[in-house]
Order: sequence, then C-alpha cells, then structure tokens
Amino acid sequence: MSGYAAVSYWLDTCADDLTARPPLDGSIEADVAILGAGFSGLWTAYYLLQHDPTLKIAIVERDIVGFGASGRNGAWCTSGFGAGPRLLAKRYSRDVAARVHDLMIDTVGEVGRVCEMEGIDAHYQRDGELIVARGRHQLPTLHHIEEEYARIGRADHWQRLDAAEAKAKLAVTNAVGALHQTASAVVHPGRLVRGLARAVERAGAVIYERTEATGWTPGRRPVLHTARGDVRSDAVVLAGEGYLARLRPTHRQVLPLYSLIVLTEPLSDAQLAEIGWTHRSVVQSCALTVDYLSRTADGRILFGGRGAPYHFGSRIRPEFDMHEATHGRLRAAVREWFPQLGNVGFSHAWGGCLGVPRDFMPTMTFDRRSGIATARGYTGEGVAATNLGGRVLAAQICDVESELVSLPTVGHESRNWEVEPLRWIATRYLQRASLRIDEQATQSGKPPTGRSLTERLIGH
Ligand SMILES: Cc1cc2nc3c(=O)[nH]c(=O)nc-3n(C[C@H](O)[C@H](O)[C@H](O)COP(=O)(O)OP(=O)(O)OC[C@H]3O[C@@H](n4cnc5c(N)ncnc54)[C@H](O)[C@@H]3O)c2cc1C
Repeated sequence: MSGYAAVSYWLDTCADDLTARPPLDGSIEADVAILGAGFSGLWTAYYLLQHDPTLKIAIVERDIVGFGASGRNGAWCTSGFGAGPRLLAKRYSRDVAARVHDLMIDTVGEVGRVCEMEGIDAHYQRDGELIVARGRHQLPTLHHIEEEYARIGRADHWQRLDAAEAKAKLAVTNAVGALHQTASAVVHPGRLVRGLARAVERAGAVIYERTEATGWTPGRRPVLHTARGDVRSDAVVLAGEGYLARLRPTHRQVLPLYSLIVLTEPLSDAQLAEIGWTHRSVVQSCALTVDYLSRTADGRILFGGRGAPYHFGSRIRPEFDMHEATHGRLRAAVREWFPQLGNVGFSHAWGGCLGVPRDFMPTMTFDRRSGIATARGYTGEGVAATNLGGRVLAAQICDVESELVSLPTVGHESRNWEVEPLRWIATRYLQRASLRIDEQATQSGKPPTGRSLTERLIGH
C-alpha cells in the first residue's frame, strides 16, 4: 500500500491498489483531454463513452484517482446543490429551482444505478437525511428550510419531527426537533471514485497518474499542457475543483476552503442501538459553521465541519489537511452530541479543500469555440452533483439533444473572487464571525437575528 492510504480513511479502505498508474510519457492526440481524476473528470468520461464508445479519452491526474475532495468527503450523496432553492428561485425562477431539485433527487438514484450496473461496491445506502435542531435557537432554521422548499412547490420533501420523534431517529443531545427526508444516500467515496475509474478504463479511457497539468491553450484543437507532454484534442475538460485555484486562468474562480473530518473507532451493535443509529441516514445540525455526520458501513461515526482557516493567496498544501484546533473541536463535538458513547476512540483525522465559487453557483459548461469545458464550484455538495455535471458536459461535448443543456449551470460564469489581501480578510472575517454567532446562540439560547452581514453573505 502506498503513502496515499494516509490521505483519508476512504483511500485507506477502498479495497484498491493505490500504486500510481503510469504517467503521461510524451505528447499525444486524443478526442477529449480531462484534467483531474475525481468524480467530475470520471463522470464526464463515463457519460462521454456512453454517448460514443469510440472516443479516445485521456485523463491526467496530478496525484492518483480520488486524491482530491472525491476521496476525502463526508460521504453524503444528496440532492444538495451549491446554490440552494432560495438562491435559485431568486436568481432564476421557482420553476428552475424546482427543476434542479428534482434533477438532483434523480441524480442520487443515478449514482446508485451506475454502482449496481458497473459492479461498484460503494456501500451505497439510501437511508435519507436528518437535520437536527440542537436547542431552541436552531428551530427557526428548520422553519426557514421548510418555507424554502414549500415556495418551490416541494413542501413534501421534508417531514417535520418533534423532539421525541427526532430522538427516536437519533439520540442526539439537545435535539428539540428535526427535518427528515428519504431521498439522500450515503456512500463509501473511496470505493466509488476508484470503482468509477476502473469502469471508465474498461470502457476505453486512459488515466495518466502523477501527471500535473500546467495550463491549456484554447482553439479548434485545444491543448492540455502537462509537465510530461501535451494532450491535443477536440475538447479539454477542467475538472480540478478547488485545485483550479492553483492555475493562473482559474485562480480567482474558486476559493479553496478547507473542510476537516474526524472518524471514530467502529462502534459495537449495542452502542449503535443505544444512540439509535442502526440506519445510515446522514445528519447535520442547523449550525452556521456547517457540521455533517455520517455512519460508515463498519459502524464508525464520521463528524466533519468547516472552520479550518482559509490560507492567504488560496494556497493549498498537504500540511493544511491537519488543523488540531479544528480536529479537536470536532472530537469534542462527537462527545457532546453522543455522551452515551463515553470516551469513544478516534482512528482517523483528515481534511481537504472544496471549491467555492463567488456566487455559490456550480458551473457545468462547454464553450465550443475555445474547446474548453469545465464542471466546478460545488461548494461541498458535489458527491452527487458531479454526476449531473458529468452528464451535462458529456451531452454538450457530444452535441446530443438533452434537456440538461438548458440548465442555468450551462454558460454560467461566476464573477472572480476578490484580489488579496481583500479575499483573505473577508474570508477569515466570515469564518470567525460564523463561529462566534454559533457560540453566542448556543450560550444565549436565542436564534441568530439572520440580519448580520455574515448571515446575509453566507446564508444562501
Ligand atoms: C472534507 C470534505 C468533505 C466533503 N463532504 C461532502 C459531502 O459529504 N457530500 C458532498 O456532496 N460533497 C462533499 N464534499 C465536496 C465533494 O467531495 C466535491 O464537491 C467533489 O468530490 C468534487 O469532485 P471533483 O472531481 O470536482 O474534484 P476533486 O475530487 O477535488 O478532484 C480534482 C482532481 O484534480 C486533480 N488535480 C488538481 N490539479 C491538477 C492539475 N494541475 N493537473 C492534474 N490533476 C490535477 C486533483 O489531484 C484531484 O484528484 C466534501 C469535500 C471535502 C474536501
């Protein structure tokens, strides 16, 4: 097993050999060149080959398949979409918001369908999602979420639970109510991303690992440049998500924000029964700082959260994956949520960067004139949405008739993030303010006003 197993529990337990595939060795010609072997790049390759099995597809990956967010995430495979119903309704229309919502529900099913068809044992389980109000101060958020879905005609998406019903689903301390839905799934992201890579290879794509793309030249035959040769093709797909911040043309298109995770040792069946987590629903609270929980197939609790500092200049470095202050806070949160578990042990801690666009709106688009396609900007909700992105790009590149190409993600351009030091000052301010607002609400028992600058800027 290579050093890549240390990246996350998911790569550690993906039941795949992590030895890197051979890198690109000199310049080549292809039909489609893809930067990045995460979900975005692989789903795009998968659906391209469904449309046209004769396509020659070259995927270049700086590290190994699943090295990025796809091999590190919280395992939520949900209908969540960077831009939520409220934002989509405001910016486009209620119909568009409802359409995206419905498509995303189908997308969660599509991920399961492909796993089944391709024999990918990704521990896919569709047990739904629970949003818990931990304390009365979080109840208004449940109400806002219900309102948001009712406004787009999808009030039936969530079922409201009172305190007793919420606790029956999951015995979390201070639970005073919850929302529950049955559409979300949970996966083993490492098995999913590595299995998907095998599926696209079986279909004929070639993945070059340890091959860093250094840039691209648009044109009739666009070129993806790498340190080990060029790939000349009919379309270049940029599927680097947060890492695109490292490349000059996309440097300010996405903000690489770190999200961190801790994982417990496996719990016994008795412990899982005691906290009521015998199902595998994914769980979160209504905290502004965003927390996300899931349960692995072998009975571990995954607790993730944002809050690790943004790094000046959008820097991304291996050492940023670990941040003891944040990991310590997450371990303490597990004990606070589930005191029944006593001094539960932790086996893993890791982190990774997500890609946040300035307007929270994912982009899935192919510009035929420049030959450049991109799917990016999932803001921490890309496990399922990247599948939609892959289908949207494949339909555009192959020029097939599809209702997907009328989505507002097509042709979308987010405005750039601010230049430094403004970007750093604003992001750190929002990160610190979110933590402070959560702390104050917990201590005072009063809900945040919803009117602060921070809430207005991030409450999309
Ligand atoms: C800690 C964490 C928790 C998350 N939790 C969830 C969750 O529970 N549910 C959810 O829906 N979403 C979650 N997300 C977000 C989700 O994981 C991502 O949206 C999704 O995986 C993005 O996939 P991607 O292929 O676009 O990007 P990535 O998986 O990041 O893939 C990009 C790939 O490009 C490669 N690359 C980068 N630069 C270059 C280059 N120059 N040349 C060649 N290759 C390059 C990288 O090595 C990487 O493999 C989480 C993200 C993180 C970091």
